[in-house]
Amino acid sequence: MKYAGYLIDLDGTMYRGNEPIDGAKEFIQHLQQTSTPHMYVTNNATSTQSAVIAKLKKFGIDAKEEQVLTSAIAAANYIKEKQAGNQVYMIGEVGLREALEKEGMIVTDEASDYVVVGLDRELTYEKLATACTLIRNGATFISTNKDAAIPTEAGFKPGNGSITQAVAVSTGVKPIYIGKPEAIMVEQALHYLQMSKEEVLMVGDNYDTDITFGIDAQIDTLMVLTGVSTREHLQGGVKQPTYIEENLSTWLARISQVNN
Ligand SMILES: [Mg+2]
Repeated sequence: MKYAGYLIDLDGTMYRGNEPIDGAKEFIQHLQQTSTPHMYVTNNATSTQSAVIAKLKKFGIDAKEEQVLTSAIAAANYIKEKQAGNQVYMIGEVGLREALEKEGMIVTDEASDYVVVGLDRELTYEKLATACTLIRNGATFISTNKDAAIPTEAGFKPGNGSITQAVAVSTGVKPIYIGKPEAIMVEQALHYLQMSKEEVLMVGDNYDTDITFGIDAQIDTLMVLTGVSTREHLQGGVKQPTYIEENLSTWLARISQVNN
């Protein structure tokens, strides 16, 4: 139950919209006091690293840029590693644009090496049409994540997976997905932490992304019941998380007991 490092989801695990979640702050303070490396791993491609840090700060949690891995950053890293061009057409918001430009990509509406699709709350028919045309002309199709719906204060709204599908259905081309539960994101997170799979625990609220991500990568998992998934999601013979907790408070109490 002692892990050298942690991979931690944000929404539904650390906070819910603009509300902090019980125990999140205390848990992170514990990691800081015990010098336990940890990284936030999120499918949210709309926020920049500094926006994520500012949000955590609001809840009394200190984080550094290098501790925040969004699916936008992971997509930019992926494209950079491929060394197959740096002209990118994107559907997305500031978080994606910043991540791409930080890695030297040129974001353009013209002939592109890549089309990257992330959540875009100002999506238009024209953006979809441009993406489809560029993919038909040979651009590689990348999507930051396949989330079908995203929880908001006003209920579930369309997630990036649904935008991606519009382009995929029209072109008949399947995208390369980057975010959780894809292995691309695990590899990058472990690389940043300089740790192996056996040393880390993946913590998250979403069975289909966070927990599947850990299970597929053979990383131990902790599912917290503060977000999307409930105990009902664990029925029907699905692979179980290593641990299940009400929230990070109960997890902290458990590890404090065992490790003392
Ligand atoms: Mg979550």
